[in-house]
Amino acid sequence: MKDIKISGKTGICGIIGDPIEHTLSPAMHNSMYKTMNLDFVYLPFKVKSVDLGKAIAGIKALNFRGLNVTIPHKVAVMPFLDKMDILADKIGAVNTIINDNGILTGYNTDAQGFLKALVERDIRPAGKNVLLLGAGGAARAVGFILSEERTRLTILNRKEELSWATDLAKCLSQTYSGKVKAGELSRKNLEKLIPSTDILVNATSVGMSPDSNETPVPGDLLCANLVVFDIVYNPYQTRLLREAKEAGAQTINGLEMLVWQGVLAFEKFTGEKVPFELMREAALKELPHEK
Ligand code: NAP
Repeated sequence: MKDIKISGKTGICGIIGDPIEHTLSPAMHNSMYKTMNLDFVYLPFKVKSVDLGKAIAGIKALNFRGLNVTIPHKVAVMPFLDKMDILADKIGAVNTIINDNGILTGYNTDAQGFLKALVERDIRPAGKNVLLLGAGGAARAVGFILSEERTRLTILNRKEELSWATDLAKCLSQTYSGKVKAGELSRKNLEKLIPSTDILVNATSVGMSPDSNETPVPGDLLCANLVVFDIVYNPYQTRLLREAKEAGAQTINGLEMLVWQGVLAFEKFTGEKVPFELMREAALKELPHEK
């Protein structure tokens, strides 16, 4: 493996967000550039919301190949781009920008990464009953890709922001002309819905470090015929996943989605295929928790 050698020909990629200190993406991308001997470098940039427009103009001015976009810029970045991929446009959020000779196109590899994590385990969501917890940015991407796949979707969000779940369900029902239900994330609703659920997706931030002793679903409601996908990736094994495993359910962790979105962005940046396992190992090395 050679060290990254920067020259005038090196392709420059990166990630913008605020905060950005905990991102795993530079480690994931740079280690693959090294392993595959590609003339690219990937850097983290802390960009305040007020500077977003200037940062995006900088992609062209500085001739960057592309950027990933994370919280809080995934929606706000859209007006600064020249073109939108169809799925990213429907979702209304961008996590990858590609610069093709001064034309900036926005993609959403979060959504595609989520689907890839399912399909690579031979789980086809078409026609399945999916219970989606959360109605924030990530839940929106998951909701759209699942609706593209024609799942039967129910979205639950906590009471204070139930309107987010209702709005997302309405938007998905209109876009895909199918009925998407919404409700409150409560024990009563979970008890009622879990018995007929095939795939349970946690897209809330409940259980994320440092609050890793929390879970969005009481453990006694989990059962063996569920697939439980927790998109939280830090810790690697959340309480929800631990309890789902104990109940005999099949589990998928958020790192798989994170790595697949990275694989898909990497292919767009470099034009090269990257092995999922190698990028996953690079990400795991950066996670401070149990492997
Ligand atoms: P977000 O837009 O802030 O949404 C957070 C969601 O969690 C909202 O639905 C929020 O409900 C809910 N929530 C927060 N605290 C809660 C609580 N105590 N009880 C019940 N619900 C609660 O964040 P996001 O961007 O969607 O990210 C959500 C999680 O997904 C984060 O942990 C993030 O790291 C993870 N993520 C993973 C990947 C991946 O590749 N694996 C990609 C993106 C995000 P309200 O609407 O009521 O506030």
